[in-house]
Amino acid sequence: MTDTLQEKIVERDFFARPIEEQNDFLHQTWCNHCMEVDLGMKNPKEFETKDRVWIEGDCLKCGHSTITEIVEDDEEE
Ligand SMILES: [Zn+2]
Repeated sequence: MTDTLQEKIVERDFFARPIEEQNDFLHQTWCNHCMEVDLGMKNPKEFETKDRVWIEGDCLKCGHSTITEIVEDDEEE
């Protein structure tokens, strides 16, 4: 079975992260609408696909959705 057409998106539990990480992700944001960093977000939700992990939330300033990609280095080179 292959599904190359659509990536499978899985919702993760953002609140399972340590509180310090949650705070970092909630503050270190980029809003495409405001074109500003670190405005903060609320209502975070975390998603993953095979290759990517990201958090979606609402910008605290404008309320548009904002996405933070998470780079996880679990590969040591
Ligand atoms: Zn914004």
